Amino acid sequence: MTMQLIKKYLFYLFRWQLSTPILAIVLWWLRGYNGIIVTIIANFIGGLIFFWVDRIIFRVEFTNPLWEIRNNIVCASCGKVCEGYRLVKTKNYDRINDKHPEFRCTECSKEKIKELSERGVII
Ligand SMILES: [Zn+2]
Repeated sequence: MTMQLIKKYLFYLFRWQLSTPILAIVLWWLRGYNGIIVTIIANFIGGLIFFWVDRIIFRVEFTNPLWEIRNNIVCASCGKVCEGYRLVKTKNYDRINDKHPEFRCTECSKEKIKELSERGVII
């Protein structure tokens, strides 16, 4: 385990304890009702809240740009058939689910990156 993962794990164990008050409050509030039903309601409320907290805890930070490389592409800029590249993800740019990905040859992808940088689309 890396230090970063250990920190995340400890924070997650602390976060898990935060669901205790919700469980306790709902159990107290609905005392007298069936324990299983009350626990299901308490876990439902906890799930509504902690889905968002857990999303933040398990978010993956992209520090380096992610590229896809593919053979025998038709360059979207010059039409050359060759090995092609496309930028998939940076800190502020996300084309992971691009339905019509554009690949470019080495020269044209350099040009495209320059253009995207100048326009402020990618940092
Ligand atoms: Zn090209």
